[in-house]
Amino acid sequence: MIDPRLIEADATKLDELHEIMQAQPEAEKLHGIAMKSVLIEHGAVKKLNASVRSLTSGKKVLLVTGPTVITDTQENIVKEQVFAQLKEDFDVEWLVISEPDSIVHCTPENAAKIQARFAGVDCVVGVGSGTICDLNKYATFYADKEHPLPLIIVQTALSVNAFSDNSSVMLISGVKRTVHSRYPDILIIDLDIVTAAPAEMNVSGYGDLIATWTAPVDWYLGYTLGMGGNFHTAPSDMIRTQCERLLENSSRLAAADPEVISDLANVLTLSGFSMGLADESSPASGSEHVMSHLIDMTSGVRKTGICYHGTQVAVSGIISCILWDYLLHEFDPKAVEIDRCYPSPEEMEPRVRAAFGWLDDTGSAAGECWSDYQKKLARWHANRDRFQAFLENFDEFRAHVSPWVKDPAYIAACMHRANAPCRYSRLNYPVDGKTVRWAITNCHLMRNRFSVIDLLHFTGIWNDGFVQMLLDRAEALDAGL
Ligand SMILES: [Zn+2]
Repeated sequence: MIDPRLIEADATKLDELHEIMQAQPEAEKLHGIAMKSVLIEHGAVKKLNASVRSLTSGKKVLLVTGPTVITDTQENIVKEQVFAQLKEDFDVEWLVISEPDSIVHCTPENAAKIQARFAGVDCVVGVGSGTICDLNKYATFYADKEHPLPLIIVQTALSVNAFSDNSSVMLISGVKRTVHSRYPDILIIDLDIVTAAPAEMNVSGYGDLIATWTAPVDWYLGYTLGMGGNFHTAPSDMIRTQCERLLENSSRLAAADPEVISDLANVLTLSGFSMGLADESSPASGSEHVMSHLIDMTSGVRKTGICYHGTQVAVSGIISCILWDYLLHEFDPKAVEIDRCYPSPEEMEPRVRAAFGWLDDTGSAAGECWSDYQKKLARWHANRDRFQAFLENFDEFRAHVSPWVKDPAYIAACMHRANAPCRYSRLNYPVDGKTVRWAITNCHLMRNRFSVIDLLHFTGIWNDGFVQMLLDRAEALDAGL
């Protein structure tokens, strides 16, 4: 029986949330949410100056934004307004992070540009979407891990769930890596700002939440097989029912219904918390995210932009739902020849290097992937007894996780109703079939985290024909390529 208070958790009531978590079985496995407050309301940005004052008695504020002009529902230019408002009470420096083509990447180099302005600063205010948030979290944390500068984020779109967690997804040596960073002290979600964001950005946030139906099961699978750290049901129990309601309201989201936008803000923030509670991104990032990460990694070579994160994750989410549907209904544990499930490092290293070697001239992406993958491979070998037990008790596993997954046809139908792209070729930077096939086929080779794809790979099921079958099943749902 799930604690009913969890089901309707409110992201703005941090003390209550803390109490609910403390009351869960095995509460010691859950980490605290180190945030002071979350505001989700109309006109919330007007509370920014008071928020700064609640964190510091100092006067110097560093305002960090990207180059994009953002307006709210009353056509106010948000960043200019924030700058003017802060200037009423503080000594403000405004740093605009920009790169050619207006696309800002989450790189340590951009974080260093922010850190270079920290002298004498009392509080950092980041205004923007996921990239600006992640850069500010990373920059403040790595400048001083013990006493990072106070940080307030004004979220300008409901584009991802990463505003309310303690990590940053950084592009390091051309590879996307989730790096531990810190929470913002205060998160401000002004519904007048996020409602005016381009529809595809809020659809991206909805898309990020599609991972709710695949990432937690990947996480639990890895845990069951001895491949992951600490599993707990509370982070996902907290958002599953509210995510289900969002799916039911998909067409209202497409119509920018204010009530649904407000619900989306709450669930996205809770989804960020779910990662913080677990102290890893596993509750919200499984096989669907890693496919998406691989596509992002090719953007340099393909000379194209990076798609809206959640939108791309959701298209991959349909593929992951099909994968889980296969595992739970067609996988035959008795057909597994266990002795053939353990490739050696000597076999796997050239495969990993071949998969990623073409991404750059130096082989640094391939080296980065192999260094992470070999840890997963070693752990897989070391936990053979867990795999044996898993195969013997597969029916029990299936019964346990079945309520956590959704029929891929239902997910695709909801996404169609939300006006969310269901095909890689319909993303804001369309992805070609060759890249998609490469990303799906090789995504398990990129990182240490275990997913259903690793299981299918080690059991010899994962091959080009299987990937084609996934794409065919997606096609039948008007999704996929
Ligand atoms: Zn995500």
